[in-house]
Amino acid sequence: MGERSRLIISFENFAHNLELLKNLAPDNEVMAMVKADGYGHGACSLVEFANRDFQIKHFGVATLIEAIELREKLSKELFEIYVFSDVQIQSTKHRDIYLNQRIIPVISSMESLTYFLQSQELKFMPLVLKFNTGMNRLGLDFKETQKVIDLILKSGRRRIDHAMTHLACASVDFESHGLNRRQKERFDQLISDLSAAGIEIDQTSLANSGAIEQKIGLEYDFIRPGLMLYGPSSLIPRDRRGVWKGRMVSSLETYVIQSYPVSAGEPVGYGGHPVGADGVLAVVALGYGDGLLNTYRGVEIEVSGHVGKIHGRVNMDMTQILFPMEAKEHVRPGSQVSVWSDDQNSFLKICDKMNVIAYEVFCQIGARVPRVYR
Ligand SMILES: *Cc1c(COP(=O)(O)O)cnc(C)c1O
Repeated sequence: MGERSRLIISFENFAHNLELLKNLAPDNEVMAMVKADGYGHGACSLVEFANRDFQIKHFGVATLIEAIELREKLSKELFEIYVFSDVQIQSTKHRDIYLNQRIIPVISSMESLTYFLQSQELKFMPLVLKFNTGMNRLGLDFKETQKVIDLILKSGRRRIDHAMTHLACASVDFESHGLNRRQKERFDQLISDLSAAGIEIDQTSLANSGAIEQKIGLEYDFIRPGLMLYGPSSLIPRDRRGVWKGRMVSSLETYVIQSYPVSAGEPVGYGGHPVGADGVLAVVALGYGDGLLNTYRGVEIEVSGHVGKIHGRVNMDMTQILFPMEAKEHVRPGSQVSVWSDDQNSFLKICDKMNVIAYEVFCQIGARVPRVYR
């Protein structure tokens, strides 16, 4: 179609990551997190692939709308969808959508739990509970386990289908962070309290990518990977050990619109930022309208072994990159420029340079950038 800029999605790299994950956690069931449109990669295609080729049967999203979209677009596939944060279970309209489309709400508050357990219509809906063990975002307070037990027993249920918690600091070396250890202890405690009260717990999970990479939380039935599926490690730079060898599922590609030599001191773009040295300036077809924010200033971009730097202000539709003069032949109009591709380390270098986490970089990529699947 002649798109000049695009996000290429590689099923081969996605398969590589799913294979690696299987080796890392061979005994766990996977609940693949595909919220925010699969971290910007396009949830439907990835869910379809993971379901068909890797028999992954559980997927997590944030909102009911995301869940409905998956159900409608993949009406023939068999899998469970869980809505994690924006659950809205208390309205009749939404409750019926959960029931009719086989979508499972993750219950994270006393109010929704009370409503859920009282509702006759939801009687056969799996009971999936998320506990707040110290992150203090969403979740049933671990200090109120007794109340949870009372509510469940009173409702006549004897079973929790899935009990989970979420770590606040999984991106940090697990052992060195007290909150990580406390959260896990509290989770174990509440599981044993629930069991002691005669409530059967069918499935449990704690680990997101950061924990999985560190082989933390693999003793629970499920793992809930998000970021790692798409390639990068989610550990902070200090604690990265290179254990997770994921490949980038996406590559962000653009093309040179125009290029020409500039001399040291010449002003470039809005604000007239002078270049520091002679070089060749390439104007590429991506700007903040595509999600390439001004944080990208100074980020290094490599073309055929020549390293350029994003220079001056990023524009809505274009960005200037200053290359050394030797790159001249490789950055002509029409030349392809990859902001990132297969290698997670060069992608993480961009994130680290901008002091922005990989999650945000992915979610920034705008709707104007077509996703092209290979
Ligand atoms: C988003 C999310 C995950 C996945 O987190 P990653 O760090 O991307 O692996 C897992 N569990 C819950 C509850 C989440 O909200």
